[in-house]
Amino acid sequence: MLNYSFKNLVHLLESKNEEHLNLRKKANQLTEKIFGKKVFLRGIIEFSNICRKDCLYCGIRKSNKNLVRYFIKKEDIKEIIKNSYQDGFRTIVLQSGEVEIFDRDITEIIEFTRKNFDMAITLSLGERKRKVYEEWKKAGADRYLLRIETTNRELFKRLHPDDDFDNRLRSLLYLKELGYETGTGVMIGLPGQTYEDLAKDILFFKIYDFDMLGVGPFLPSFETPLKNEKKPDFELVLNFLALLRLITGNTNIPATTSMATLDKKGREKALNSGANVIMLNYTPAQYRHMYQLYDEKICLREDEKNTFKLTENVVRRAGKILVDEKGDRVKL
Ligand code: SF4
Repeated sequence: MLNYSFKNLVHLLESKNEEHLNLRKKANQLTEKIFGKKVFLRGIIEFSNICRKDCLYCGIRKSNKNLVRYFIKKEDIKEIIKNSYQDGFRTIVLQSGEVEIFDRDITEIIEFTRKNFDMAITLSLGERKRKVYEEWKKAGADRYLLRIETTNRELFKRLHPDDDFDNRLRSLLYLKELGYETGTGVMIGLPGQTYEDLAKDILFFKIYDFDMLGVGPFLPSFETPLKNEKKPDFELVLNFLALLRLITGNTNIPATTSMATLDKKGREKALNSGANVIMLNYTPAQYRHMYQLYDEKICLREDEKNTFKLTENVVRRAGKILVDEKGDRVKL
């Protein structure tokens, strides 16, 4: 793990050409030193697009009235989890908009999964009261993803009219205290975000020592107030990713669908710049077009098996090996 000064971080985030390539190379070397060529697979089930919040960048925000809202029934979710296990997944991510109506169902689904399958259960269900996180942990959940999106408090407030920065951070700390492997992350290229903000994000991750760090480029959705804003340069996303690896060492860092939406080879490039995890959309194909957090999301029309094959190819092209392991945070 390397130490970088704040000034140097800002400089490296802006870097182009040789310096940029060197950074990626170093990050890839460290990734392979820690994980070998292994890439961990995670299957995401987006079981509902109902959300009570209105985050400015999000395509499924509650003010989007042009969206058909859906939820997958709990018995069907159990069946999807069973199929994912048979297909070789050892981590499943249950994701939805933020809504409390399914909380009891989630507990039942976690208990069912824990009882029947040897797989890691990750939840990505937004901010909840501590007692709900506690109930899900007791039921058998292993990990929780809750992105902070930016550590610039002013920018956070502008983008999240329903949220409070301190409350988001408190939720993350509860999750850690309760023993979840805890993941957070930021969006790169948000309107009004600076290189200095991004450097502070990296230092924030280092200080709080989260287990998983998800990074996505800001991608505008035409159903949001940010629809006319610009996408970031993908090189900046890669610089950020490489620095995350170099500074946080053994964290799990995914190559995401949003990266492949911004750059056709985005996931391969990410896997060669510090990422060691790949996320695969395991939501049944008929629901995917209703879970568009941003425009032009890839994987909308493929079925689950097709997506699996394509994902395997991405990993192979990056010179890595897809493994069917749970992929807990590696201890150094
Ligand atoms: S980002 Fe999450 S909480 Fe915010 S509107 Fe979208 S789904 Fe809801």
